[in-house]
Amino acid sequence: MFFTFEDVVRLSRVFRRRPCSVSDELRGWHWDEYPLAPAYNVRVNASDLAGGFCPTNRHIYVRYVLKAEEKPNFRLELGSFIHRVYHMSSCMVKSILYEGASSGEDFKDVFKSVSEGVFAKAYSGFQTLKVDFARRVFEVLWSYASNVYAAALDRSRTVSPYMSLDGLVSLVIPMTVEFPVDGTLIGLNRAIRVDAILHPYMVVELKTRSFRPEYEVGLASYALAIESQYEIPINYAVLSEVKLDRELKGLKLYEKHVLISDELRERFIERRDSAMRMIEEELDPGMPDVCSEDCPFLGVCNGG
Ligand code: SF4
Repeated sequence: MFFTFEDVVRLSRVFRRRPCSVSDELRGWHWDEYPLAPAYNVRVNASDLAGGFCPTNRHIYVRYVLKAEEKPNFRLELGSFIHRVYHMSSCMVKSILYEGASSGEDFKDVFKSVSEGVFAKAYSGFQTLKVDFARRVFEVLWSYASNVYAAALDRSRTVSPYMSLDGLVSLVIPMTVEFPVDGTLIGLNRAIRVDAILHPYMVVELKTRSFRPEYEVGLASYALAIESQYEIPINYAVLSEVKLDRELKGLKLYEKHVLISDELRERFIERRDSAMRMIEEELDPGMPDVCSEDCPFLGVCNGG
């Protein structure tokens, strides 16, 4: 989640032992040729292909054909809040480092002093997430980030006394959060924001629910969008699952290492084309036997 240089090395070793060969026609830069060329003109959100809420994918029909609005619920808001804190804390780490924090202790002091202001911004706009609960979640994440990056700063400072400030920052926190990608060439929306890109070019997606196969399709959509825009190969991605303990005193992190293989790319194409067809031809896929209690469209499909 809060990745450091040591994580990049660790993940690179994991992936080097799992080679991933990809057929050239399934690379994103072949976006205008079969089988990657989108069959319809509509655009879908990458997140709709990887949502995992609805077994029949009716959420796509509801969002694009019925044009219904999502109703926020606690689980969804908690997920958004954690993503927001992740983004804001990563940016704040960089900001403090660029201001010239001289040691881990120094970094921790400043990071703590700005926490209240960041919490107020991160919490704004939520409806079902209670402030006390949000504050405890925030404190767990903030303190975790503080410990990780204070230690990383102290380690990185020992590498060389002549390192540039920019070099030092990229060693301490080697990732770009909410990395922007234009997905239009492969039939997705223009403003994709990948949770994080771990240098050099590993896609990271943060999840607050247990792993599901659809999440891997989401990773493939990000990888293909990056390949279509930047024309560099993306073979690897990481799903990072955050689990807070019941007492909200700590967190556990689980990782799933994903190869953006031919099989996964084909699953993405199949899912994207079926979503586009559903929208273009206004096909209602019907309801599943059981709806997820976290689905933001429960009120639409079940009549209130
Ligand atoms: S309410 Fe049920 S049918 Fe409708 S989108 Fe959600 S899970 Fe699917």
